[in-house]
Amino acid sequence: MSLPSPQNILRRLGLKPKKSLGQHFLIHTHQARRIIQALALTPQDTVVEIGPGLGALTVLLAEQAREVVALEVDRTLAAYLSRELFAATPKVRIIQEDVLKFDLLRLCRETGQPLKLVGNLPYHITSPLLFKLMEEKEALSLAVLMVQEEVGHRLLAGPGSRDYGILSILAQYHFCLSRLFSLGPGNFYPSPQVNSVVLKLEPASPEPRAWDEGTLHRVVKLAFSRRRKTLKNTLAGQAAALGLSPEQALDLMLEAGIDPGHRAETLEVAQFVDLSNRIQAKVAEKRGG
Ligand code: SAM
Repeated sequence: MSLPSPQNILRRLGLKPKKSLGQHFLIHTHQARRIIQALALTPQDTVVEIGPGLGALTVLLAEQAREVVALEVDRTLAAYLSRELFAATPKVRIIQEDVLKFDLLRLCRETGQPLKLVGNLPYHITSPLLFKLMEEKEALSLAVLMVQEEVGHRLLAGPGSRDYGILSILAQYHFCLSRLFSLGPGNFYPSPQVNSVVLKLEPASPEPRAWDEGTLHRVVKLAFSRRRKTLKNTLAGQAAALGLSPEQALDLMLEAGIDPGHRAETLEVAQFVDLSNRIQAKVAEKRGG
């Protein structure tokens, strides 16, 4: 079964898909259902949808959730959804807003329970959105997101892979990630030039835990600031950025059993966490003394 054709709806509304907003609308109901299924919705759930577009996922969410909060930045589409498609569906709240500016923690406090999050993401906001979700993960119980396949590879990559980097390490620290399924360009109007993949993200309780997530983020970013250089060059060479001397940074790496002659891409997530905790302790000790 197919959804009402996005082409027809857009024509009736006198609109063209906006490339700048990453508008690629789902055209098959069964694909929309597969995405929604992964949320395992109950009638108690509040679900936040990122970029409802023409409502392909939203209509299915409304069948299963207690409340749907749908954030759509496109003013015309938001008006179509709130004044037409969902005018008689009070459980669907359409908010015309940039998701990157939306306060998930506040919504979570208002609803009194962690939120489920879903979106066929506009690809240009994927990285900033993921960093936002890392910061606001307490607001979430689960997220099901469609991303560009290449970003999916980066998120799931392990040490030694050329896709392994800042996004992989920080996302894997904050979330348990799993790949659900891929979708080719033919599933969207207009067709994107890339494949897409649907991922499930569950907030993690990592072990070891970073004492200070800001320090972990800074250490990982610094270590990858020059990808082809060794940790001696990046972390020790620029140790001042962490509040340390180069010698202190080298000592901490050796204490952690990390070879400073290796590159950042060889370290496991847990090694970054251990190192960032040692750095945090040393900086605190220096401040105290
Ligand atoms: N969910 C619909 C579907 O699957 O057919 C549309 C998905 S389309 C890939 C992405 C949607 O996100 C578009 O409707 C676009 O206008 C919206 N969008 C783009 N940037 C956004 C932002 N910063 N905040 C909220 N929505 C955004």
